Amino acid sequence: MPIKSVTPLEIYKSLEKTNCGRCQLPSCLAFAAAVSAGQKKLSDCPLLDKQSTEHLATSLQSGSGQELYQFVQDLSKLEQKILNLNFAEIAPRIGGIFREDAIGGRLVLKSLGKEFAIDRQGQVHSECHLIPWVKAPLLAYAANPQHQAITGRWLNFRDLPGGMERQNLFTSRCERLLKSLADQQQGLLNDLADLFLGEPISGFDADLALVLYPLPHFPLLICWHAPEDGLESSLTILFDACCAINLPPQMTFSLSIGLVQMFDHIAKQHTV
Ligand code: SF4
Repeated sequence: MPIKSVTPLEIYKSLEKTNCGRCQLPSCLAFAAAVSAGQKKLSDCPLLDKQSTEHLATSLQSGSGQELYQFVQDLSKLEQKILNLNFAEIAPRIGGIFREDAIGGRLVLKSLGKEFAIDRQGQVHSECHLIPWVKAPLLAYAANPQHQAITGRWLNFRDLPGGMERQNLFTSRCERLLKSLADQQQGLLNDLADLFLGEPISGFDADLALVLYPLPHFPLLICWHAPEDGLESSLTILFDACCAINLPPQMTFSLSIGLVQMFDHIAKQHTV
């Protein structure tokens, strides 16, 4: 029976994240999903300390176990698809680089200016801290049989496939959160641009228009208007029309949320 008092993401956060396999599962993420689905016990991870085990088991509320379980299932399917890809052939088409090695080569994709290398088994390697919301879009982008080059035509989130249904959530969890961060920390957007190789662009009706590349052919545009004449600031996130083809809609949504949450984390942890 699933453990209903523990959120799977809290389980994941408490794990060592070494993917050591001692729980008989390939990764800590798979273990967190299995616990929340009732297929594993917290005690099956020998590296989880007693205090964390007790805390998880007694104090948290559930609800998203099935969601994470589904996420891990989808991730496994993506890893399978990677096995059949011809990295050398697709790399130039999708804006990646093929790097040969002794075990079939790696497909290198840049996310926000940082390199992530996908191996033949669908594992992702990087000098950066790898977080699940980055891994799934990287694999989905690489495994997508369709691909569209950057168009230069910008769309609102609601104009992307499936965007209408998630527009309210997107507004509250991405645009409003980022706007409030920009309001609280002057210069934050410029600093994020420096950190993540964003490109300020002109020609938009905005005080700051900044393009970021979470994937090579997946640009998003942040348009920010400063407060003026008693009006509060505003912030909109637009997507190049190619984004509608280059990632599944759900992935675009989770990628955007992951991105803004990371900005939120950075803004709280540091003066960027
Ligand atoms: S035993 Fe624990 S640390 Fe090792 S992979 Fe499983 S959950 Fe992760």
